[in-house]
Amino acid sequence: MFESLSDRLGKIFDGLRGRGALSEADVGEALREVRRALLEADVSLEVVRAFVEQVRERAIGAEVTRSVTPGQQVVKIVHDELVRVLGEAAVAIDLNAAPPVTIMMVGLQGSGKTTTTAKIAKRLSEKQGKKVLMASLDTRRPAAMDQLRILGEQISVATLPIVAGETPVEIARRAAREGRLGGFDVLILDTAGRTHIDEELMAETAEIKQLADPHEVLLVVDALTGQDAVNLARSFDTRVDITGIVMTRVDGDGRGGAALSMRAATGKPIKLIGVGERMDALEDFHPSRIADRILGMGDIVSLVEKAAQTVSAQDAQQMAKKFKKGQFDLEDLRNQLQQMKKMGGMGGLMALMPGVGQLKKAMAGANVDEKVFDRQIAIIGSMTKKERANPDLLNASRRKRIAAGAGVEVSEINKLMKQHRQMADMMKKVSKGGMGSLAGMFGG
Ligand code: GDP
Repeated sequence: MFESLSDRLGKIFDGLRGRGALSEADVGEALREVRRALLEADVSLEVVRAFVEQVRERAIGAEVTRSVTPGQQVVKIVHDELVRVLGEAAVAIDLNAAPPVTIMMVGLQGSGKTTTTAKIAKRLSEKQGKKVLMASLDTRRPAAMDQLRILGEQISVATLPIVAGETPVEIARRAAREGRLGGFDVLILDTAGRTHIDEELMAETAEIKQLADPHEVLLVVDALTGQDAVNLARSFDTRVDITGIVMTRVDGDGRGGAALSMRAATGKPIKLIGVGERMDALEDFHPSRIADRILGMGDIVSLVEKAAQTVSAQDAQQMAKKFKKGQFDLEDLRNQLQQMKKMGGMGGLMALMPGVGQLKKAMAGANVDEKVFDRQIAIIGSMTKKERANPDLLNASRRKRIAAGAGVEVSEINKLMKQHRQMADMMKKVSKGGMGSLAGMFGG
């Protein structure tokens, strides 16, 4: 299971509290963990190497302030460096040019180019009141042209009428003319992709770019691209000089590594992220959120969104009230276990949660899998309602009865009770401070 970088660094530095400055040896060990965490987040090896060196330079000799541990200090340095590399702030699509401002979308087939074209068009027309025209240059796949036309109808954005037999360059020319004559503010060109980078694709893309003279060239890349992200971004950037990156399927990848790789390889900003298939599933890219994810420090915003999908508002509100009162009975534990199961275990929701390291420990270490959830849910199911509401009732004979009912050893009951106690303590802390926002998030 994924152990957050913050947790690991915490462990390394547990014994070092109170020293003045970070020594080379301290930093060396921490950096090995940083390296591992980045690779686990799917950052490309090349970028990891360069990044770790930068952190080393900044970290050695850094003063450790009294109020933090050396581990926290290194986490802070790593975090700041991540944000610096990812770009300090969100960069918007630049529309500062004579209309129609042309945006050219490039990328591999299946990366989400057509979907993203429509998402951007919707955003520009609905939020910024722009008159947008979309045109598909994908002559190889007539289905792609149709797809864009259908999306256009769905979001009420104009698409260039499809004329069979035209080359991509001819379509681009016609689109530019239509854009001018039709009084459009923005023209978005959805170019053809390939399943992999090849010379023909690059040559065609470069030719269209020269003709269309776009103000923005946005590379669309799937967040799950992983180690290839660097090559991909660099190839496109070298050939067509991209102005920005849109990362799609960020909803399917909580790790964020591809963003760091692409940004480091090209120096071009990640402007937007796709977080789902729906037309409104497009968001601005916030570097610090991705940095938080990579570090495992939690991303409250993503957490809220994810929790909102799974946890009903009413459940959430009730839970928040209980957290606040410091109440957390076995019924609540059962609900939590069921939620976690639904969310795909700790790797899902919990990985996004700040301070989750401690909570995970409270959940009896690393081997929490679905079977364990099922067994624990069964144990709680074998208790009476009264017992669930008041765990103190569970004396030895009751535990024996429950074990028999659930078909487990008494030791498992004991373990579960211990876990429950630890979680209840955590919940109390959560509601008091530190993770207070978590309780707030659940509607409190
Ligand atoms: P293209 O070949 O690059 O034009 O790719 P498409 O736009 O046709 O997208 C391929 C598939 O990915 C479609 O099923 C889209 O709905 C899906 N897709 C695109 N962007 C996202 C995203 O941000 N998240 C998710 N989950 N799916 C996406």
